Amino acid sequence: MKPSPIFKTLNRFLKRHPVEDVERFWEDEAGYRDWVTNKPDGYVINVVRDGKLVLHKATCGTVTDFSQQMTVFGVKVCSKDRANLESLCRAAFKREPESCGRCFSEDDRPGNGRTKNFHLPLPAQVYSLLRDEASRANRPATVLARQAIEDWLRQRRKAATHDAIAAYVAEMAGTGADLDPAFEAASLEYLAESERRP
Ligand SMILES: [Zn+2]
Repeated sequence: MKPSPIFKTLNRFLKRHPVEDVERFWEDEAGYRDWVTNKPDGYVINVVRDGKLVLHKATCGTVTDFSQQMTVFGVKVCSKDRANLESLCRAAFKREPESCGRCFSEDDRPGNGRTKNFHLPLPAQVYSLLRDEASRANRPATVLARQAIEDWLRQRRKAATHDAIAAYVAEMAGTGADLDPAFEAASLEYLAESERRP
């Protein structure tokens, strides 16, 4: 089997710029199988001969079909952290990996008809702070913005539920709904019972 030029490039790159928690496999079926078996929550970039970079979950059938030689079919670059692999692709190959259509849910993939674009003009200062934050986190600014919006919406929903419960409690205080007669009777019996005990 010919040595893989992609694997050599990758090794050279990692020697100069080590990336934490990244392993790569070429013509090493046992080593690779071991990795995907032990890290089912991990991620695998499959680098095929034409240089296409495809990101998979470590459990994806495309990268765990051991009836074929998986590490000959393509160089496998593995990490527990998806962001590490994405930043490695940007740094070493100057490209973002594609996400596998088989193992990523529709929601994980942009441009699939289940995401909608929302054009949001930002003040220049907010925009540049977001860019700074994105380069510090080594993640795309759009991903960070989406996460921030999702977190905020989750908090709003939680706050709305809390307010609704508080309003209900205030309204029902002292009414029949405040008192469960059966429950109260049971607790009175319980108290009487414990008083009788020595
Ligand atoms: Zn996949």
